[in-house]
Amino acid sequence: MGEIISITHLKKKTASTPIVCTKCGVKISQNELYYLEEGSKQHIHSLIARRFCVVCYTKYGEKKLLKGS
Ligand SMILES: [Zn+2]
Repeated sequence: MGEIISITHLKKKTASTPIVCTKCGVKISQNELYYLEEGSKQHIHSLIARRFCVVCYTKYGEKKLLKGS
């Protein structure tokens, strides 16, 4: 009890449209790699999926990115 267990993970994707990194705000251009938050359960569709650039993924790692805001 008391611990929030994340049901999401990050999936490597290629941007189909230009987007912005949730963490650092850098622009991710079309066809660039980024990491999209995905849930193992369908409830994720009602949430806003976070997107992270490769730099943030490398710097912080998946666990830290999904835990922090
Ligand atoms: Zn970033």
